[in-house]
Amino acid sequence: MEHVDGARPMTDPPAERSTSSAIRAVELVKTFGDLRAVDGVSVDLAPGRIYGLLGPNGSGKTTLIRLLMGLARATSGRAEVLGVAMPSRPILARIGYMTQADGVYPALTVGENARFFAATYGVRDPAAVEDALRIVELADRSSSITATLSGGQRRRLSLACALVHRPPILFLDEPTVGVDPLLRVEFWSHFRELADGGTTIVVSSHVMDEADRCDELLFVRSGKVIAEGTGAELRERAGTTDLEQAFLRFAGETARTGSDGAESDASGPAPTGSGG
Ligand code: ADP
Ligand code: MG
Repeated sequence: MEHVDGARPMTDPPAERSTSSAIRAVELVKTFGDLRAVDGVSVDLAPGRIYGLLGPNGSGKTTLIRLLMGLARATSGRAEVLGVAMPSRPILARIGYMTQADGVYPALTVGENARFFAATYGVRDPAAVEDALRIVELADRSSSITATLSGGQRRRLSLACALVHRPPILFLDEPTVGVDPLLRVEFWSHFRELADGGTTIVVSSHVMDEADRCDELLFVRSGKVIAEGTGAELRERAGTTDLEQAFLRFAGETARTGSDGAESDASGPAPTGSGG
C-alpha cells in the first residue's frame, strides 16, 4: 500500500459512535409474546432539546423509554446514549428518569428522599440536593414526611429526585398527568431552563395539549414512530392546524401503507384516561 507523503493511513471510524447525538436508536424492537410493543424505532436526537413522545395509552412510549435507557433488553436493534451502547451502568448514572408513578418513598421526608436518590447516584454534595429541591420549590418542605404532601408536591419531589445528580439526559414519563394547570406551567418552565442549559429531555404524553412546548415531536402509535418533526412541520405536512387531527392523518397513512397491515383503525391519542 502506498502512502502519500504526510498523509495518514486510512482507518475506519468507530462504527457505532455518533458523538453529535444525545440519544440514538436503530431499529429497536421489543416484543411481549405476540405483541410488538416497540416495533422498529429509529431515532437520532440532538442534545439540548425537548422531544415530545406523543401517542395514545398502550402505544409503546414507556417501553421505548425503558429501551433507550437500557432498563429493558431489546428483542432486536440497539440504543445509544451519549454515543455509548445501552445498557451501560456509567451512562445510566448520567440519566434522570421520572417514572409515570411517583417513585418516592412515602415514609421518608422530602429531604431524605432527595438525599437517597442522590446517594444512589453517588452524589454526596448537599448543595445538589438543595438545588434540586429549590428548582421544584420544595426547599422549605425538606423535613416534611412525603406521605403528607399533596399529589402535585409529590410530583415535584419526583422531578427533584430525577434531577438531583444533574443528568445531561432526562426521561420524563407523563410528568404532568394529574398535575394542576399552574404547576404544569412551572414544570414546563423548569424543563425549558434545563434544555437551555444543555439537557436533552424526552417527555412522553398521551395528550396533545403540551405538544407545542416541545422543540420536536415524535408521534407514536402501535410501537412505531409514525411522524417526526416540529409542531409546525407536522401541521404543514398533515395540512391541518390541529395536532390531534395531524396525528390521526399520519396514523391513517401508516395503517394504509404499513407493511404488516395489522391495523386498519386510526384511533388517536385518548383525550382522557390514566397512563398505561
Ligand atoms: P404507553 O406507555 O404508550 O402507554 P407501554 O409501553 O406501557 O405503552 O405499553 C405498550 C404495550 O406493551 C401495551 O400493549 C402494554 O400492555 C404492553 N406491555 C408493556 N409492558 C409489558 C410487559 N412487561 N409485559 C407484557 N406486555 C407489556
Ligand atoms: Mg406509559
